Amino acid sequence: MTSDGVPQRAGNNLDPWYANYADRAAGFAASEVRALFAVASRPEVVSLAGGMPYVSALPQELITSAFERTMREQGPVALQYGSGQGIPSLRSHILEVMALEGIRNASVDDIVTSTGSQQALDFVAKLFLDPGDVVLAEAPSYVGAMGVFRSYQASVVHVAMDDEGLIPEALRETIAVLRGQGRRIKFLYTIPNFHNPAGVTLSAARRPEILEICRSNEILVLEDNPYGLLHFDEPAPNALRSMDPEGVVYLGSFSKTLAPGFRVGWALAPHAIREKLILAAESAILSPSSFSQLVVSEYLSEADWRGQIDAFRGVYRERKEAMVEALGEYLPQLSWTDPNGGFYVWVTLPDVLDSKQMLPRAVRELVAYTPGTAFFADGRGRHAMRLSFCYPTPEQIRVGIRRLATVVNGELDL
Ligand code: PMP
Repeated sequence: MTSDGVPQRAGNNLDPWYANYADRAAGFAASEVRALFAVASRPEVVSLAGGMPYVSALPQELITSAFERTMREQGPVALQYGSGQGIPSLRSHILEVMALEGIRNASVDDIVTSTGSQQALDFVAKLFLDPGDVVLAEAPSYVGAMGVFRSYQASVVHVAMDDEGLIPEALRETIAVLRGQGRRIKFLYTIPNFHNPAGVTLSAARRPEILEICRSNEILVLEDNPYGLLHFDEPAPNALRSMDPEGVVYLGSFSKTLAPGFRVGWALAPHAIREKLILAAESAILSPSSFSQLVVSEYLSEADWRGQIDAFRGVYRERKEAMVEALGEYLPQLSWTDPNGGFYVWVTLPDVLDSKQMLPRAVRELVAYTPGTAFFADGRGRHAMRLSFCYPTPEQIRVGIRRLATVVNGELDL
């Protein structure tokens, strides 16, 4: 305690301001594997770690012409502040995109654009989470969302999933246990399609059941769907939002279907929540980038964006096949998910292997992956890893998996 009664926290030699940080800043933890990823970005390393879309496959000339048209025809608007809710023309295009996910019961007024869907995630968390609140999420879940929830001092409680996605019975039981403990559950965060990191899709049969469980327990559903249109054969089942407009906040993004550099995503929310999201956006950023939104909107007006997403599907399908084939050839002793879309394969290792402890050895062998522990809030995941097939070429993927086999076999011989 100082003389004026202000409690003092322990200092820190490296940061003189340490004692002044808000409690929530303790949740801003750098990923344990960030340092290794810096090494893994060396060109000689095959990185199966990140989730970077293969933007080189985009029709660069069409994007350049959208950019030029924007400046020529709408320069003063593009260079100006805009509305906190987002540019209306873009929001109309977003309705067309979401119709492909079965969402036909929405209006442009219900959409709020954001700086990537990551920011919409942050705004939803800011609106709903108090310290100590619980967010339910699949086991495993998206590392970037768990970081957001932690930054609002909420706890993530995982719910089991299998090859058909979140398990309804496990959801029911988890809710009952938490309620029995007097915990406050604020929402279910779920990635129903081509899950990051698990690679699985919530089956059509389970979707109404999951919604019904949440509805009857008065738990909001936060549906995060950046990969939904990137299917390899069958399209994903209709979005949860299409079945329950009042109980679901839906998050979408142009990062995976177009390019993450635009940083354009959105939330589709029930009326009252949408109003609060606009206020959150206005207070945080005044308005999302007019420029980015207009270029994306121009691109969607003029280009064959459906055909371009189809081209992406072809690229990613080929890479996924290369990865699954190479796993079968070089690492038949492991098991893995075989996704029908998206960017990721989830690999389960024998219990004697620890993916985090094995990573430095992998990087020495010039291959990188993300250890499973990154995707759990409760320390699980040591015997699993996420492999991304989105960025490396099929040939690089084969080389990477062959190197990984050297690492795994080396560890198993110890
Ligand atoms: N949700 C999931 C599941 C993701 O994988 C990502 C990006 N890796 C995001 C949200 C955030 O994407 P963005 O902010 O680029 O839209």
